[in-house]
Amino acid sequence: MDRSHSVRSESDEIRRTAQPVLDFAMAQSLVQNHGSPLLVASRQGINQSYQTLQKHLPGIEIFFAAKANSESVVLATLQSLGCSIDICSLQELDVAMTAGFQLSRIIHTHPCKSEANLAGCYRKGVRRFVFDNESELDKFKVAAPTAKLILRIAITAKSSLLNLSSKFGAQPVDAIRLLNAARSRQLDVTGLSFHLGSQCIDASDFDIALSTMRAITDEAFMNGFTLNLIDIGGGFAAAYGDQSLPPTKDYCDEVYRSVRRHFGDTSLKIIAEPGRILCAESVTLVTCVIGKTHRQGKPWYIIDDGIYGSFSGRRFSESDFKWLHSHAQDANVYSSVIAGPTCDSGDIVSHEQWLPDLAIGDILMVPSMGAYTSASAAAFNGMPLARTVMID
Ligand code: PLP
Repeated sequence: MDRSHSVRSESDEIRRTAQPVLDFAMAQSLVQNHGSPLLVASRQGINQSYQTLQKHLPGIEIFFAAKANSESVVLATLQSLGCSIDICSLQELDVAMTAGFQLSRIIHTHPCKSEANLAGCYRKGVRRFVFDNESELDKFKVAAPTAKLILRIAITAKSSLLNLSSKFGAQPVDAIRLLNAARSRQLDVTGLSFHLGSQCIDASDFDIALSTMRAITDEAFMNGFTLNLIDIGGGFAAAYGDQSLPPTKDYCDEVYRSVRRHFGDTSLKIIAEPGRILCAESVTLVTCVIGKTHRQGKPWYIIDDGIYGSFSGRRFSESDFKWLHSHAQDANVYSSVIAGPTCDSGDIVSHEQWLPDLAIGDILMVPSMGAYTSASAAAFNGMPLARTVMID
């Protein structure tokens, strides 16, 4: 198979767009062997994404956010490349450890967790944890007294499509109060973190966040606290649908310039916890048409994956997805509806796609399906979930 069109080379990348990691002949053969639906992951693609981050964020330790994709083959691939991991629960810790991540390369980033979650992960040896409020400190005092804590600050970027700071993060003005609250409980806060929000399109948004982090770090120092770590979170944008983004290396270069601008004169360790940038574009969904009808003057195609399955993480809009078919490019196309397999009438994946006349059994492919897909899928109605299959 000629995959030269699908695996990106860092040097000749001008703009990033969502591309399939396999062709239809390979999809057909994988479906014959493994069934449908399938999430086909490219080892080479994941490798390349990680290498680009490493090269263009030099010295910054990368903790892959397991919430984006916790499939064992994906974690094992990242682990073998030397990546570290960000987990939020005992279950994510277990899959990370099974994939071979050492405890020294694990960080727990849930700012507000149950005592069972905290105590369980601490008992298994996790030592670095995030918090963002005072009552969380009481849990640490009881269940994880020697943990190294990181205070999450709420910061949102203008260009992020998903605001995570509406739920998490302390306000910058509360930072010193919380550092004092930790100190009064003999707890050790070693750093600060933020998450600009997921799918942050404009890398220059990191600059404002990092300047706020620097101001808090300086104020903390003046108040007798020594912080030695800044976690710049995730948010690094992946290409979806018809979107065209700057190459990952340019995005990272811009982030790195901001890191140097605000922390270049310090010895603070900088870490990041990206999710989608490491896995979204390297996975293509292969799904089959299982039903066909005509409603409200339009063709409707029922496929074997839907909003409870691989499209469960759909958070932006329908146009996030590019639908590829194997019919001739000059075939007549019709405005069509694509619906998922469950009995929920709301299980519609797309209300309008321009598609040729498809038949039951036809394969459709959707690129950039590696993040918040299998990780958030549920087998509602007993419908089988897509299996992840790794190709080279
Ligand atoms: N870290 C935390 C705490 C998160 O909540 C998330 C996403 O929700 C991530 C990292 C990963 O974010 P992204 O996939 O946008 O890089």
